[in-house]
Amino acid sequence: RFISLENSYHGETVGALAVTDVPLFSSTYAGLLKPGLRAPSPDARRALPGESAADAARKAIQALENLLTKHAGEVAAVIVEPLVQGAAGMVMYDPLYLSELRRLCDQYQVHLIADEIAVGFGRTGSLFAYQQADITPDFLCLSKGITGGFLPLSCVLTSSPIYQAFYHDDVTRGFLHSHSYTGNALACAAALAVLDIFAEEDVLAANADKAQRFNSMMTDLQARPDVRNFRHKGMIWAFEVDTSRADFAQACFAAMLRRSCLLRPIGNTVYFMPPYMITDEEMAFLIAATAATLEELARASNTADGQSIALP
Ligand SMILES: *Cc1c(COP(=O)(O)O)cnc(C)c1O
Repeated sequence: RFISLENSYHGETVGALAVTDVPLFSSTYAGLLKPGLRAPSPDARRALPGESAADAARKAIQALENLLTKHAGEVAAVIVEPLVQGAAGMVMYDPLYLSELRRLCDQYQVHLIADEIAVGFGRTGSLFAYQQADITPDFLCLSKGITGGFLPLSCVLTSSPIYQAFYHDDVTRGFLHSHSYTGNALACAAALAVLDIFAEEDVLAANADKAQRFNSMMTDLQARPDVRNFRHKGMIWAFEVDTSRADFAQACFAAMLRRSCLLRPIGNTVYFMPPYMITDEEMAFLIAATAATLEELARASNTADGQSIALP
């Protein structure tokens, strides 16, 4: 069996869906899925007053250890989205969770799968998020940023012992699992171009500078009374909006589109995950549009006395 985190998202093919904890995607197919085990999220927002994000991570690790003890010998792997649980609403957590997770995986002899499809290639500030915990996963899932988002490509990296266990010259013994366009040459060329850029330009350092400038542009937004849990990691920013509108996500998306911005909240969580080549001017435009939209939506719901009203 596989252990994944509460509110995890790992994709929608049958195997991936079984470790995805988003009922909207999985409930229709529940009968087809091999039931997995769920461990509590190390979500930093769960820290009680006086506790740190690391304390929240420690509590989640304790719960995971209990699960591993209870299901000893039954579990093949633990799969996580390192540092940021994207689809859960940009849930951020302390790197301590990953280092403790590595320790438990070694102790209980289960594999650690790092799904860095969203966070890989610099998104959290390091090339890969797991590096911030100074660990090595047994499997690393990559996609999205590997081609700069321009062409579809994904790959799974693993250690030599695991690779060798699946490799065999006899086709009846080897790992037979592929798709028509596996290793598509054009997509691989795009990925190589992205790797060249990472090799030739100091993308991570440039992003760190940008992120610092963007942070200082967001102080007013962050100070709004309806903005909670403002958080930032690398080139991801997120916060919750206090709103009585059930249709906040759709209304915000529509209002932002009218301001020429693509912003897609997850529930009442607003997040920025800009392409790395975004300019300061563009970021300022995005932040101003977001502030104006929050203002507009707050006014609209006040007019309706807390009821949501349809926007034109
Ligand atoms: C987008 C995403 C996936 C899904 O990848 P597909 O290639 O669409 O199956 C899986 N995991 C994470 C963390 C993602 O962000």
